[in-house]
Amino acid sequence: MTGLADPPQSQRARSAREHEPAPLRLLLVEDDDADARLVAESLRDVAPGPHALERVARLADALEGVAQQRPDLVLLDLSLPDSGGLDTLARTRAALSGTPIVVLTGLDDGQTAREALRQGAQDYLVKGAYDPGLLAKTVQHALERHAVTAALHASEQRFREVFDNAPIGMALCGLAGDELGRVLRANAALCRLSGLPMHELVSTRLAALFDAPSRELLVAALGAAEVHDATLIAVLRHADGALRSLEATVALVELAGEATAIVQLVDVTARLEAEESLRALALYDQLTGLLNRTLLQEQLALALRRSARGTGQVGVFYLDLDGFKHVNDTYGHAVGDQLLAQVAQRLQSALRAGDAAARPGGDEFVVICEGITSSEMAQRIARRLQAAVRGSGAGTQSGPRVRGSVGVCLARHPVEADEALRRADAAMYTAKRSGSGVALYSAGMARATSERLALESALRAAIDGDELRVAYQPLRSADDCAVRGVEALVRWAHPELGMLRPAAFLDTAEATGLIVPLGARVLELACAQVASWNRDRGDAPLALWVNVANQQLAPSVLTDQVRAALAASGLPPWLLRLELTEQVLLAARAGMVEELSAITALGVGVGLDDFGTGYGALGAVARLPVSFLKLDRVFAAQAPTDATAAAICRAVIGLGADLDLTVVGEGVEEEGQRAWLARAGCDLLQGHLLGEPALPDVDLRER
Ligand code: C2E
Ligand code: MG
Ligand code: MG
Repeated sequence: MTGLADPPQSQRARSAREHEPAPLRLLLVEDDDADARLVAESLRDVAPGPHALERVARLADALEGVAQQRPDLVLLDLSLPDSGGLDTLARTRAALSGTPIVVLTGLDDGQTAREALRQGAQDYLVKGAYDPGLLAKTVQHALERHAVTAALHASEQRFREVFDNAPIGMALCGLAGDELGRVLRANAALCRLSGLPMHELVSTRLAALFDAPSRELLVAALGAAEVHDATLIAVLRHADGALRSLEATVALVELAGEATAIVQLVDVTARLEAEESLRALALYDQLTGLLNRTLLQEQLALALRRSARGTGQVGVFYLDLDGFKHVNDTYGHAVGDQLLAQVAQRLQSALRAGDAAARPGGDEFVVICEGITSSEMAQRIARRLQAAVRGSGAGTQSGPRVRGSVGVCLARHPVEADEALRRADAAMYTAKRSGSGVALYSAGMARATSERLALESALRAAIDGDELRVAYQPLRSADDCAVRGVEALVRWAHPELGMLRPAAFLDTAEATGLIVPLGARVLELACAQVASWNRDRGDAPLALWVNVANQQLAPSVLTDQVRAALAASGLPPWLLRLELTEQVLLAARAGMVEELSAITALGVGVGLDDFGTGYGALGAVARLPVSFLKLDRVFAAQAPTDATAAAICRAVIGLGADLDLTVVGEGVEEEGQRAWLARAGCDLLQGHLLGEPALPDVDLRER
């Protein structure tokens, strides 16, 4: 290829002309009239196609004419009145570069002929030594040869246009020795990509635009360009300092006979960023930035494989937040998320380099540490993680605090990652149940885990089937001991384990969400039972007190359950009292107060159970639509003998009176307790002394 360094404008203009169709314009420069006639006649008979022959006698006229209209071919006599010999050719070529010239001369001189051809003449004919056929053929060949060159020019031109106007950056770079990577030509897109003007780009080394590691790659690719093409990702530094990732393709082209590299540069920054964020999405936990379950398993598998070679074991620390569900339920998810992010941050700052932290889900975190050489060392790390978590929560509005229970499993190859995680999880569950905070895995724990899972599925079946029962415990008037109502207390008639108390299964029900259908079933059974008792009680109907879990307070869940139970049983709404846990007082959660108001709007009473020892701020009671308080049973046990308990108890009863709330004393086991609570002003009393919880069939038989 030639002429790529020409200014593009003139090239484009010429190329357009070269593609114009016939007739051919032939220019004959000949001072001898007879010779001129001969040429004209020869061409008339055997010309390669329609043509117009113009004749001039002097070189000056020819060059003049050229200025106006370029011929397709020149037949040039070398001996003219105003010029002679090869000089005639040289001057014509200078004026008409790119137009084929056939030399006609009276000199039959091999030396001149060779020189004329060397200087660019297409052919050389000796006057008198050619016939018309030869002239025509010579003209035709000259034109054909020229057409090939023209086509080459055209394709070169197209290449140039594509190159200059390509939306991607392009550079032609030298490959020879010292010139390796020198930019011979660049396009506008590369100017934009690099932020450099064309004159600065051209003749710099392409690699100089890139960061150091990319520079090496690029130089290597250019060095090998003559052997193979290469594609690589390189980081380009824009003139303003910004870094962009480019995909660079290096390929070989021949330019003016020289091996040259054409480098195409596509900005893939956005694509790489998108790929990176997809990868992050797939492998990292979005909330905390820790590894997710997938990456955790991968990393743990790697660590276990490495343990085959080292001396230590891999420590898997499974950490679960105690009371996180409570935070989520009462403060809302935004606060819960904030807390999780903070725990993650604190955990990470407690790790050594090389340790990995993950959040496989919910409020569970896993830390992997390699090279653990003793269980004491593992315990120390577990305690450190616990301490890190303990500080979390400070700074969140009213400051919910959490503790972490940590289960530890020490494992080494060939234990599988899944198995190691299962063991650490089982240990964590033990740590949580026992309240010890940290537990090291032992074989018995696996059994406990499978029991827990069995309990969950059995409970699900129990709710769907017919294994839930309700025991009823009377609430009596503090004045005359008359039964005014009953509290519904759930029981599970387990086919093998017998009648189970709530302590055996409520945690599981809450942890799995089964508490919601369980609560609905209790409401349904209890409303039906009490409505049925009330049909025989005339003017003294029993009120029904039912325990409600926080999870049932999700928007419209409880309202719907209550409406359905009342409608099915016919129990009047004012006889139903719902006992909420005191934790509901912390409810910053939007929707909870609305849900409670919707229930009280039905005429159903709402109040607080086990009040007075937990989170409850007395002032908060006034903000909720409550109509009763049930004193925690520690007051029954302690108030008669403990001055502080007595003072709190009296304060709560006073508050109840001020707010016109019914106050119930619970857990009354002895006469002294009953008397004290009655005197202090409780309205209703409940406890073993006044009646044990009993199932309705037993109840009926005994009454
Ligand atoms: P709670 O609502 O405070 O119910 C009173 C608990 O104290 C009952 O235990 C009852 O049997 C027991 N109790 C009654 N009198 C005495 C006494 O004189 N001394 C002592 N020490 N205990 C007494 P239970 O039936 O085991 O229920 C435990 C807790 O389970 C309940 O405490 C309540 O919070 C929860 N619960 C029971 N049924 C349901 C239910 O249907 N739904 C929900 N969400 N929770 C329930
Ligand atoms: Mg209760
Ligand atoms: Mg209670």
